[in-house]
Amino acid sequence: MSRVHNFSAGPAALPTEVLQRAQAELLDWQGRGISVMEISHRSKEFIAVAEQAEADLRELLAVPSHYRVLFLQGGATQQFAQVPLNLLEDGGQADYIDTGIWSRKAINEAARYGKVHVAASSKACDYHSILKQNDWQLSKNAAYLHYCSNETIGGLQFDWIPDSGEVPLVADMSSDILSRELDVSRFGLIYAGAQKNIGPAGLALVIIREDLLGRARHACPTLLNYQIAADNGSMYNTPPTFSWYLAGLVFDWLKQQGGLSAMQQRNHAKKDLLYQAIDNSAFYHNAVESSARSWMNVPFHLADKRLDQAFLQGAEERGLLGLKGHRAAGGMRASLYNAVSLEAVQALVDWMDEFERGHS
Ligand code: PMP
Repeated sequence: MSRVHNFSAGPAALPTEVLQRAQAELLDWQGRGISVMEISHRSKEFIAVAEQAEADLRELLAVPSHYRVLFLQGGATQQFAQVPLNLLEDGGQADYIDTGIWSRKAINEAARYGKVHVAASSKACDYHSILKQNDWQLSKNAAYLHYCSNETIGGLQFDWIPDSGEVPLVADMSSDILSRELDVSRFGLIYAGAQKNIGPAGLALVIIREDLLGRARHACPTLLNYQIAADNGSMYNTPPTFSWYLAGLVFDWLKQQGGLSAMQQRNHAKKDLLYQAIDNSAFYHNAVESSARSWMNVPFHLADKRLDQAFLQGAEERGLLGLKGHRAAGGMRASLYNAVSLEAVQALVDWMDEFERGHS
């Protein structure tokens, strides 16, 4: 079996052990002569899968009991609308922090449903750092405060949790959930698309404090109403059963790895290795201010962008895939999600060193 080192930003690398288990179970799941994809989501067998996945996620993140966990569809993008449809009254106002492309997508979508106040923006520093909270202009009566904990394209990540006081804090954690320990109790709502650290695409995870349920505006579609999802165990309609099952296998794998403290240590070592390689060289460059550098998505540029193609081709020949930067950013981007090993990062750093020596 030959598996490449996959640095894709998403859909992204999944643990080989998880894929092997899914493969082994595919045709004959639990000795039932059927695959998990082929049974009713309302069967007791599938409900057990769904409940175990939730229980394992709760254990990993130590989710307090007054929070509900929802397994939804529509990706994180649907949440850009679903959050205001549920938490913002007609004519109400919400605060948003702008740290990059994903924050702005959330802002533009929310503006369709109410007043959006951009309380801070990293635009003035070209999205290379995050303003300290003292410099934010928060409003007193915001329905919620929204931020993106990790900007997947810009490679900008909060290493702190904003203090929103009584205002519910809402976070898009699509690209850093489960990558390190987290105090869920600081949040009103956390959401994440699945296809990075959770499982395959097709699922969006929402963790919501119970008192924020039941606030949806009248025009909110039934399927997008958090209360209805919570009342129906995220099965108001047919959920993406295979993605849910696979997310459960990933949660189980994470527990076997030692949980989020172990992932945090591993991810810390991975990002240190790569940023050190970038910083110790005049050939590679990452412009993000050090305390705001993402552990999960590391964009970098070569000294001469005419060499990009040769770098990518050589990388591919060495089994290093998914390194091309986002089309909006250019250059390179290495995504270091949980399923990317330290050995993979070492192989990347070795290739960067070899390429630099061949071109300087
Ligand atoms: N937010 C962030 C931070 C993301 O990285 C992404 C996807 N890359 C999205 C939102 C959108 O996610 P989806 O494609 O699941 O809608």
